Order: sequence, then structure tokens, then C-alpha cells
Amino acid sequence: MSAQRFSPLKAGATIGILGGGQLGRMLAQAAAKLGLHCHVYSPEQDSCAFEVVRRSTVARYDDRKALDAFARDCDVITYEFENVPAECAAFLKSRKPVLPDPSVLENTQDRLIEKDFIVAQKIAVAPYAPVHSASQLEAAIAKVGRPAVLKTRTLGYDGKGQAMIGKGDDPLAAWKTLKHAPCILEGFVKYEREVSVITARSRDGHVECFDVTENDHRDHILKVSKVPARVTPALEKEARRIAERLAKAFDYVGVMGVEMFVIRRGKTRALLVNEVAPRVHNSGHWTLDGASVSQFEQHIRAVAGWPLAKPVRRGRAEMTNLIGAEVHDLESWLALPGASIHLYGKGEARPGRKMGHVTRVFSK
Ligand code: AMP
Repeated sequence: MSAQRFSPLKAGATIGILGGGQLGRMLAQAAAKLGLHCHVYSPEQDSCAFEVVRRSTVARYDDRKALDAFARDCDVITYEFENVPAECAAFLKSRKPVLPDPSVLENTQDRLIEKDFIVAQKIAVAPYAPVHSASQLEAAIAKVGRPAVLKTRTLGYDGKGQAMIGKGDDPLAAWKTLKHAPCILEGFVKYEREVSVITARSRDGHVECFDVTENDHRDHILKVSKVPARVTPALEKEARRIAERLAKAFDYVGVMGVEMFVIRRGKTRALLVNEVAPRVHNSGHWTLDGASVSQFEQHIRAVAGWPLAKPVRRGRAEMTNLIGAEVHDLESWLALPGASIHLYGKGEARPGRKMGHVTRVFSK
């Protein structure tokens, strides 16, 4: 079903969300603000999005009966994570509009396909090569050089499914740590900083980007996002142009995050795209308090067929993730003037688990 062929949702309509994590939870909260209901579908019984929605389904992504009942209850379906199985998205699409279109998942679930897609748009990425055999690994190292990062083609996130190959390292041993899964080898980028653009595209092709955000990671997990990013106006413009171009190339509907590296090129700076997230993105959480519209509301507006808002930033903003046991150390955050606390209602504070975040907005 084409995204353009159905009419905008009316207040009181139901949006289905595949996935029940914090992104689904915050999407549902934004939908409620707009008078829309959500039905969350997740295989995990303890999904933190369940407690903020009208209806929920606990079932596997290949449970046709449950998917069918879910589709019947929803007016439009979206997702909060990119690893929704292709068959599941296709099955749902045969029943109700699914946005962004499932073809976007095919182009972003696999790092090799994603990189090829980005390059086909004439957008720069780090040098890369496929690795499916020992001989290809050798050829990839010859092409990409060292140091390099070996990444599994699918299912990697927050640094999982990655292995560094330094000057003296044995590439085969690195590949073994990834269980010889199909991989890509990427040249290690000596970046100056990491930035991202959160962009929204409506059903009629209108695009609105949030200001470029600068991201600091700890142990491969996003720790702090700051906006505005320390980039020149020209680079800011270029980052937005890249995000807009990708959104158009995907015929995207909804909010998308584009992660980029800022590199030095002589006296100037350039951008390399690292990854595209076909969903709301952690580096856009600052928009909940730091902008006139949040990334979550923008996504809901887009999939509902409503006009996008023009985001106006309220000031300089900083978002800090509360990871694992940090969530038990709230006292100082709660007492901090101007801090806005968001907790996701998750159970066990396991190491590396995103439990909440704090936003601070400073006058310009
Ligand atoms: P990814 O899962 O690809 O988003 O990678 C997670 C993080 O690892 C990135 O945000 C970077 O900090 C780092 N990283 C990934 N790929 C590279 C690369 N080719 N060169 C340098 N750092 C990288």
C-alpha cells in the first residue's frame, strides 16, 4: 500500500508500534498528547512501553494469528527498532499501511547493503569491504588498511558485533570472536567528533531536520548528546543536506537518525556517514525538553499523515543517558536546577542497559 494513498488519521485513531522498548514508550506518550492511541506489539512480556499504551500484544514476530489481530486493531503501523523481520513487516503491509515502508528495513538491517545504498547516493562513508571468507578478509585488509573495524553485517548495536583489528592483530582471530559471521571491514576513522542529524519526512515529502547534535560515547554506548554541535555553519548545512538526501532516497516517512563522523581534511572538515537508524534515535532525546516539538511527536505526525512541525530549539541542550546502575544514583540529578528526568520504567538495571536520561536546557 503506497504511503500516499490513505487519508490522515483522525484523533482517536490507533497507531501500532512494533517493539516495546523506551523508544516505543516515548512514541506512545507523544501519540497520547495528540489524542491518538497506541497498540504495542512485542515478544517480551516485560516491555516498558506496555504500561503507557491502551492495548498491547505479547507474541513472536512470526505469529501470524497475533499479527493479523494486531493489524485489524491498528490504522497505521510503525516500528521503534530496525530489526523487525522482513516477513513480519511484509505480512502487516498486506493488511495495513506500514511506515516507513518495509523496503527501508531491507536497506538498513544489513551494513553492507546500507553502505552500498549510501554510496549510491554519492555520500561519503569510511572505506569498507565485505568479509565472508578468510581470503576476502585478507583482500579487505589490503583495501581498507589498518587499523580497521570488523562489524557483523546484521544485528550489531552499541558496539556489539564489532572487533578492532590493529597493526599487530591477527585478523582471523578477530573474525573468530564474531563467530565467522558475514561481516564488513571498515577503515578506522580518526574522527574529530561524532554528530547526528535527526530528520523527519512527511507523507507528502516535506522534510524538517533538528539541529545537528554532537555525541560522546562511552564503551560504545551513547553517553552525552549536546546541541548545537561544534561544527561550522557550512558543515551543519552539509549534514542536513545529507540527511535530507537519504530520507528522499528511501522515500522515507517518519523520523530517521543519521550518524556521521566529522573528519579533518587539511584545514577544512568533511563528513562521513557511519550509520542510518530508520527510527527515532537516542541522540534526539534532547528534543523532548529542548525543542518546540520532540522527535517522537514529529514521527507520530509523519506516520499519521499530519503536517510536520517546524522545530524551534529552546536553547543549548545537553542529554545524558542513565546507563545500568546509574539509575540508582538519582539524588544529584533530581536536585539539579533545570534538569528534566526521564525514566523508562525498566526492571533490572543490567550493565549497559539504557534506563533513562536527563536533559538540561540552558539559555542561548
Ligand atoms: P556503530 O555500531 O557502527 O554505530 O558503531 C558504534 C560506535 O563505534 C560509533 O559511534 C563510533 O564511536 C565507533 N565506530 C564505529 N565504526 C567506526 C569506524 N569505522 N572508525 C572509528 N570508530 C568507529
